[in-house]
Amino acid sequence: MKFQDTLINAKTTVKDCTDFTVNGITNICKLYGPRPCGEESEKKAQETMLRELKAFSDEVRRETFKVNPDAFMSFVPIAGTCCAAAAGLNVIASHKNKKAALGSLALIGAGVAGMVSEFLLYKKVYDPFFKEKESGNVIAVKKATGETKRRIILAGHTDSAPEWTYTYKLGSHGSFIVAGPALAGLAYTAATSAVTLLSKNKKTAKKMALGQLAFFPAYGALYKFTNNKRYVEGAIDNLSGCYIASAVLKYLTENNISFKNTEVIAMMAGGEEAGIRGSKAFFEAHPEYQNDGVETVFISIDTIRDEEYMAIYNKDMTGMVKNDERVCNLLKKAGEKHGMTIPVTAIPLGSTDAASASQAGIPAAAIVAMDPAPAKYYHTRLDTPEIIVPECIEKVLNITLEAVFDFDENGIQ
Ligand SMILES: [Zn+2]
Repeated sequence: MKFQDTLINAKTTVKDCTDFTVNGITNICKLYGPRPCGEESEKKAQETMLRELKAFSDEVRRETFKVNPDAFMSFVPIAGTCCAAAAGLNVIASHKNKKAALGSLALIGAGVAGMVSEFLLYKKVYDPFFKEKESGNVIAVKKATGETKRRIILAGHTDSAPEWTYTYKLGSHGSFIVAGPALAGLAYTAATSAVTLLSKNKKTAKKMALGQLAFFPAYGALYKFTNNKRYVEGAIDNLSGCYIASAVLKYLTENNISFKNTEVIAMMAGGEEAGIRGSKAFFEAHPEYQNDGVETVFISIDTIRDEEYMAIYNKDMTGMVKNDERVCNLLKKAGEKHGMTIPVTAIPLGSTDAASASQAGIPAAAIVAMDPAPAKYYHTRLDTPEIIVPECIEKVLNITLEAVFDFDENGIQ
């Protein structure tokens, strides 16, 4: 069955499904506002989505998981604290005991290790030190009418992010403007430690130790890097993905379209902004998706608004995780059928839920439509239903539906 052939007699059109998406996003934002991972608003939003999905699926459930939401972004102030303390030790080292510079290097090492493991690798290093909460994933299944031979999982995330203070205050590059000097300070302090330990010239070490003070305002600014008291509404990031996944099931069900051998799953993940914890929990809870003999693929639909920047990610997790080229192809081909040449590229920074799937060995890719600068609304209070671009939603919905039908017929190649 071709997607194109279903359009002629569709009772529920793609345009209807686009309206459903826009209304659904608006409704969730109006009812529950910001949805921090593990909070009541995230849960209630998921319960509302679950109720809606019942009409379009054979089975729908919410699976809970434990999470320490504040751990993920804590690497920012922790790294800043390590740098400031390291600078302090260098001052002592340059005046009294140069061995103190070894402690300084150890602190810098600890800050960098935290940054790499939490942010670049999404490891749960700081998690045990933060409050544990419960979040959930909503999973809606439209079953195959016959034997299940293929499975496609379409995922958005329901939680929203804490506001990135400097992106909001200083614009697109605001967070980099603040992080840049702090990273320069880290390098300078490491150099100061090395000079203190290795050089015989005490004067230079003392001068450099004094110079470290210049970076303290940058370290201080890191404490406000994310504002945990103000979470954003996340209409675009990522209720757009949730409702596009939901709209695919709506289109199929309301037009009486069933696949004989392909199961279609819409997943509304929790805790993406807490370090893709929901999708990680999902694949930990479902090892069968890796080995039940059903050809399974995963598509993360994330932050759909800026058509000119639409992209398919073949590398995720700041380039550390490879997604599946065949799934990228499926999306690219679907785009071409709808007159679009979508670039296949690496995510510039951060991660989508597709990384969890790829790490679990499930062929995966992500489709995103956001200015990678990043956009001014990215993780700020500007991410509201007022800025939804329905035309872009409709295009990605078409692409996703096209990919689902193609996958049902041909699998991934
Ligand atoms: Zn986000």
